[in-house]
Amino acid sequence: MSTTKQHREENWNALGDDAFRRAVRAFIEERYPAELRFLPFRPPWRELKPWVMLLVEKGWSAPNWPVKYGGMGLSPGKLLIFIDEQERWGVARAPDHGIVQVGPMLIQFGSEEQKRNVLPGMRTFETIWCQGYSEPGSGSDLASLVTEAVADGDHFVINGRKIWTSFALDATHTYLLARTDRKAKQQEGITFFLVDLSLPGAARRGIKNIAGATEYCEMVFDGVRVHRSNIVGELNKGWTVAKSVLNFERLNSGSPRRAQFAFERLRALAQERGVLGEPDFRKRYTELRLDLADLKAVYAYFADQVKRGQPLGADVSILKVMSTELNQRITEFMLETAGDLGLVAAGERGDIGRVDALTPFLDSRGRTIGAGTSEIHRNVVAKRVLGLPAA
Ligand SMILES: Cc1cc2nc3c(=O)[nH]c(=O)nc-3n(C[C@H](O)[C@H](O)[C@H](O)COP(=O)(O)OP(=O)(O)OC[C@H]3O[C@@H](n4cnc5c(N)ncnc54)[C@H](O)[C@@H]3O)c2cc1C
Repeated sequence: MSTTKQHREENWNALGDDAFRRAVRAFIEERYPAELRFLPFRPPWRELKPWVMLLVEKGWSAPNWPVKYGGMGLSPGKLLIFIDEQERWGVARAPDHGIVQVGPMLIQFGSEEQKRNVLPGMRTFETIWCQGYSEPGSGSDLASLVTEAVADGDHFVINGRKIWTSFALDATHTYLLARTDRKAKQQEGITFFLVDLSLPGAARRGIKNIAGATEYCEMVFDGVRVHRSNIVGELNKGWTVAKSVLNFERLNSGSPRRAQFAFERLRALAQERGVLGEPDFRKRYTELRLDLADLKAVYAYFADQVKRGQPLGADVSILKVMSTELNQRITEFMLETAGDLGLVAAGERGDIGRVDALTPFLDSRGRTIGAGTSEIHRNVVAKRVLGLPAA
């Protein structure tokens, strides 16, 4: 790449918003594979990889990272445009925990050695990362986790189990929380580790989701020896690192994208079934349409805070609840509208034409659980936004 081109590409923030949007749109529309648009499930990595490699080649795989680390260094406003254009075109989500979660954590808390050794492979997707937080007995109450890491010279020996780990079958590495001080108060004795999943003693077992896809894994750590240079932040201070989830991740889990896709599918299905004009259908359809408009307005409110560089408050929990629950309501109505054809999933489309009502419905079930359940987010709003007393 010539220095001039590189320089121009590193200065995306100097471009006007409209010009930047046009550049992103042109690239996506030209290069993103048509058969992967608007999928109601996460496609396998092998199918999405060629597209992600195009982003890597173009220097666009880490839009949120500083230029210094090979990212695009986008301002919050530009990053929102970048995300918005992908959503508009129905671009599928890559196994991007490295880019959106652990990369930014390393940039904030990691040692220089970790940044030098780990970030390049993460950016080029040579290493794929998954999040090892939840355990069989610790989900909502994550601080009760029991996976343990015991010091042994320059190493820590990890024993325990993690569960519901998304992308884990494709992953080469995980970032995980392990207890390093049993005597300390729950949140104070936890450390954040980077773990290579090819180390002896690390094993994975796929778990099928409700749609029959192996979306999650159980990970077992049986005496896995990890060098202490893989601790991020300080020993026993992993809770602080894990809690540093950035604004974009919090905004992203409440994005209206899924509900919007589902609504468009509902419309297409209703057209196909000839019910779009029926009064009963129109009543519920219109209610959902208004709910979607509300959701978009709330999203725009939080997106605006992010654009202005303000940290999001506890009230952003409302967005995740609204978005995932609306997605469920739309997909439930879609299934009803499909009638008997609601049993037809992708791949066996039959008379239902292009519209698969079952897969989005099944996909929507877990979304009110991952990234914090609806009940937990409601508790946050009750306590920290409304100031209600604990039940
Ligand atoms: C799509 C998806 C992707 C996921 N990806 C990952 C991943 O990559 N990595 C990872 O580590 N984990 C992942 N998870 C796991 C997820 O974080 C946990 O499922 C979630 O935190 C809930 O924990 P749990 O399943 O143990 O349920 P529990 O915490 O046992 O909750 C069971 C029920 O009790 C309710 N409940 C619990 N506590 C309270 C309370 N205090 N007040 C009111 N109600 C309460 C919950 O809302 C829920 O309805 C994923 C889950 C899903 C569905």
